[in-house]
Amino acid sequence: MTDITVPALAAEDAFALTREKFALPEGVRYFDGNSLGPLPKAVQMQAYITTTHEWGDGLIRSWQDARWNTLPQRVGDAIGRLVGASEGQVVACDSTSVNLFKALTAAVRLRPDRKVIVTDASSFPTDLYITEQVAALTGTAVLSVPASEIPAALNGNVAAVVLCHVDYRSAEVYDLAGLTQAAHEAGALMVCDLSHSAGAMPCNLDQTEVDFAVGCGYKYLNGGPGAPAFLYAAKRHHADAQQPLTGWFGHAAPFDFTQKYAPAPGIERFLCGTNQVIALSLLSRALEVFNGISIEEIRTRSLELTGQFIASSEARLAEHGFVIASPKEPEVRGSHVSLRHPQGYAIMQELGRRGVIGDFRMPDFMRFGFAPLFNTADEVEYLVDQINEIMKTGAWNNPAYERRRAFT
Ligand SMILES: *Cc1c(COP(=O)(O)O)cnc(C)c1O
Repeated sequence: MTDITVPALAAEDAFALTREKFALPEGVRYFDGNSLGPLPKAVQMQAYITTTHEWGDGLIRSWQDARWNTLPQRVGDAIGRLVGASEGQVVACDSTSVNLFKALTAAVRLRPDRKVIVTDASSFPTDLYITEQVAALTGTAVLSVPASEIPAALNGNVAAVVLCHVDYRSAEVYDLAGLTQAAHEAGALMVCDLSHSAGAMPCNLDQTEVDFAVGCGYKYLNGGPGAPAFLYAAKRHHADAQQPLTGWFGHAAPFDFTQKYAPAPGIERFLCGTNQVIALSLLSRALEVFNGISIEEIRTRSLELTGQFIASSEARLAEHGFVIASPKEPEVRGSHVSLRHPQGYAIMQELGRRGVIGDFRMPDFMRFGFAPLFNTADEVEYLVDQINEIMKTGAWNNPAYERRRAFT
């Protein structure tokens, strides 16, 4: 047989193919992949296979035969490839909030003589809530400062820094490598939340020597609503890290049914209860959309799309009073762009009526995610056209848009 060399696809063609892998509704322009990734077509089929064949026909035998038993590790490794973690350091399980609780508690316990947790004061609220409680349970105090002041807040009493890689409102990317190094120089550990970067840009976890990381499965990873989150623990911490939710799936030998807890030697010690089999199966299938495309190509494309949106907004929307609330410098910009406008909530409602979906964050942030796997340059222009038209015609000025819905 002769070898056939398949030439690498040009990035543009590769992204045209990934877009085809999503079941996007006709007529909808979707700029919210940063909040809930859309449905990959293969996931529809996987849902059928997992329920009908694996569960329905296989019953309990599928724990072995369909490899349900190793789903957290296998899905974790697939996510690891996207965030720069070599094998055996990531598990997919629980929610981001729960994983942050486990990871941050483990980090603080590794520095038992230190009494302070430093965090970014404008972090995602659930991260702040969890951090407060970890501090209460470990007898430490939380020092909340603006992200730019974290280096100055470090000293020999700081056990851990907990930080989001990308700010959920502004999309500012923080210097994970530099801050991790600064934390380490002070003897502290770095715990990072990758919810807004995993699947959208390189995170280089191993290379930057981040100690622990967590992140979301339903945003850029497209795992579906409530998809399991992930947890990364650097290998060097596996032997000593003690996470607080010591359930049987984190045990060294769950099916020995021993009375006494003994943590699994590797990353499995960060598991707690029974694997979320159906959700993990869907997330596993969703991650296959990333096959054949590198995270660097995704980053390049993401910057093209966000850069295009910023340039068009500056040219055409500034006259309507929009303020660009995301960094213009590409190196520090994540994969979404926020515009601020006093009528932001009403404008988003009118966009939604037109099939253009983004989201709104208090007090006046209109947020648009640009996910290279399915968003296109034409869609970006369409979005700016629509906002422009809504402002010119006053279509946002509708009494029905004054009432806030519970979910935005
Ligand atoms: C989306 C997001 C979460 C979500 O947490 P869950 O517990 O999975 O609901 C947490 N942190 C950040 C920074 C997020 O963006």
